[in-house]
Amino acid sequence: MKASTELQGVKSLGFVRLEIPCPSCGKASLQLLKDAVENDVFTCPTCGKSIDLTTEDWRRFLDHAAEFYGGIVEAAAKTPK
Ligand SMILES: [Zn+2]
Repeated sequence: MKASTELQGVKSLGFVRLEIPCPSCGKASLQLLKDAVENDVFTCPTCGKSIDLTTEDWRRFLDHAAEFYGGIVEAAAKTPK
């Protein structure tokens, strides 16, 4: 997967988790954003089926999430001392 600049930057955000809903069983599992960015596919911990993260909707969502959390990290770095 070719990650955008924002997605590269978000790899340092090891603490951010988001819910990945499984299209097969409908259960959402809490996964690291970093893992979602680095992987094309997740295995659902409930039913064991694959969750495809390469769809346009997922890419768009992950791009937004990466931008959002990247902005927080950037803002925190600029906090007046
Ligand atoms: Zn599932």
